[in-house]
Amino acid sequence: FNNELQRSEKMEIISDLAASVAHEVRNPLQVTRGFLQLMSGKEEGKNRDYLQIALEELDRASNIITDFLTFAKPEFEHIKILHIDDEFRHIEGIISPMANLQGGKIYLDIPTDLAVKGNSSKFKQAFINIIKNSIEALGDEGQIHIRAYRTGNEVFIHIRDNGEGMDAQTLTRLGEPYFSNKTKGTGLGMMVTFRIIEAMDGRITFTSAKGVGTESTIRFPAAGTSPVPHS
Ligand code: ADP
Ligand code: MG
Repeated sequence: FNNELQRSEKMEIISDLAASVAHEVRNPLQVTRGFLQLMSGKEEGKNRDYLQIALEELDRASNIITDFLTFAKPEFEHIKILHIDDEFRHIEGIISPMANLQGGKIYLDIPTDLAVKGNSSKFKQAFINIIKNSIEALGDEGQIHIRAYRTGNEVFIHIRDNGEGMDAQTLTRLGEPYFSNKTKGTGLGMMVTFRIIEAMDGRITFTSAKGVGTESTIRFPAAGTSPVPHS
């Protein structure tokens, strides 16, 4: 028992360290990003392209740090009641431009009276990771359907895409650190998402077929009493 205790204290120190390194690295990245952005407004031609690539790569580094930070310190502060429709309105603002770039369409079907308990930015991070994977899997006529509803004391959220789908092997390896089939993938997205959902007492499952698409189903304990019918 004593050993256990020491071990978890050590883990705590390691994750504190990791979190503070991630924080410290993110600040200079942000400053650099600001200056590059200023420069790119004044440049044209090839130089502007180079600056654009530099900005994208900085954003990539920043996203990796965000994912890593969540993994190192998944404890949730600022837990509150999250209204699913509000959260997804924000999420939509971030993912719609990404989907548009791929020529994909996003359909949202989320009633107004659903709520769960959690940290708003972690919740958004978890779902953005899932939806980003859907977007990246889309081909022509890509569609992503997001719907939510309540059954008993649980809130269900489904994310369905008609992208490339996954074979059985990919499905079993999903969430393994650094597992990625993409040239620019980090293989951290699903690991972080699983961790966040777990910390919210939620469950996530995937069904997928190669060439057909993927559906992920996430369930959380519902927050608040059962919905009162609107008068
Ligand atoms: P990354 O996106 O950086 O590769 P993830 O952990 O987010 O890492 O995903 C791991 C792998 O799972 C992806 O590389 C991809 O092969 C597969 N994957 C996840 N979601 C989907 C999806 N909706 N459709 C097809 N493949 C997916
Ligand atoms: Mg991903």
